Amino acid sequence: MNSSVKPRLIGLTRDGLKAALGAAGVETKQLSMRVSQLWNAMYVQGATGFDAITTLAKPLRGEFADTFSLKRPEVVAAQVSSDGTRKWLIRFAPGVEIETVFIPDEDRGTLCISSQVGCTLTCRFCHTGTQKLVRNLTAEEIVSQVLVARDDLKEWPRAGRNSDERLITNIVMMGMGEPLYNFENVRDAINVIADGEGLSVSKRRITLSTAGVVPMIPRAGEEIGSMLAISLHAPRDDVRDVIVPLNKKYPIKELLEACRAYPGLSNARRITFEYVMLKGVNDSNADARELVKVIRGIPAKINLIPFNPWPGAPYECSDWERIEEFGEIVNRAGYASPIRTPRGRDIMAACGQLKSESVKARASERLAEMRSKELARMPH
Ligand code: SAH
Repeated sequence: MNSSVKPRLIGLTRDGLKAALGAAGVETKQLSMRVSQLWNAMYVQGATGFDAITTLAKPLRGEFADTFSLKRPEVVAAQVSSDGTRKWLIRFAPGVEIETVFIPDEDRGTLCISSQVGCTLTCRFCHTGTQKLVRNLTAEEIVSQVLVARDDLKEWPRAGRNSDERLITNIVMMGMGEPLYNFENVRDAINVIADGEGLSVSKRRITLSTAGVVPMIPRAGEEIGSMLAISLHAPRDDVRDVIVPLNKKYPIKELLEACRAYPGLSNARRITFEYVMLKGVNDSNADARELVKVIRGIPAKINLIPFNPWPGAPYECSDWERIEEFGEIVNRAGYASPIRTPRGRDIMAACGQLKSESVKARASERLAEMRSKELARMPH
């Protein structure tokens, strides 16, 4: 059988992995042990094939290799910014491409991952918003972004790296797409990434960013439990309706109510409100004062994001002094208001600059792709 259509094990939940192994004939009493062995191989050792999994007897390695795949997606391009930011263009299938970004800092390394190819939201200031949705990423494709980054950063034990000096310490679901419109796959992927016997990135270090899909926020709290970031960007509906059109469906008041009810909030565990600074649009002192008024009572920090330009963008970034004055007002009201340093602008890797060339395939092509995936998932 062609390896591209073998069922893939990356990104399955533990139960999913158990079911896949069971369907392939692994004995019930051995299932838990095999799941642990494979989990360690995939997420601690970074195995890309079964040959290297020495905890499995040789014949079993061969059997698994004939049945399953641990293959990585194709990295089409890898770029490094002058500030050390890295960006990978990853292809999962013909015409299904996304970008993943690694932002190294002195005290941490943040991996920014994508949840969809393209996006449905059309936020006016966002480059991804100009790319129509191609499709949701699967849990495998979301988790694979972390594995690809660890491969390239040589962050596996076999590369001689000590496991307590990690490069990727934080993960933000802030790449292409709206994660809460791909809920199940994002949930499963985050639960795999956070698993303490695998990649082990704690949920306190994973942040999911949403433009405000209000009905999904309670479920995110219950079933994902990561940190939450909200792309607020304006304190008033008339402005937000224009720059984040989703606001017409879920206005600020409802959004903030969902935030207030998000489980586990405290001063040590705050919601991040992202606020892109658009010259003359949302950056006045009056806007700052109104902002602190509407979020009152929510344990929060405000992340001010200087607008990152892209070809044809209809906005400009606020002047630096304006951003600082805005931040001062928010800060004086008792909220941390860090200004996000633009990173990787020279390789179009900064917030809101990501986009791939992928366009939605014709229905006939999609059908062919689905069929081959279905075949791949069939036990045999
Ligand atoms: N759809 C989710 C995930 C995207 S996160 C969301 O909207 O939250 C990407 C973050 O970058 C969001 O806060 C987004 O509003 C912001 N952003 C988009 N375009 C930007 C740009 N050109 N400059 C700065 N920030 C931008």
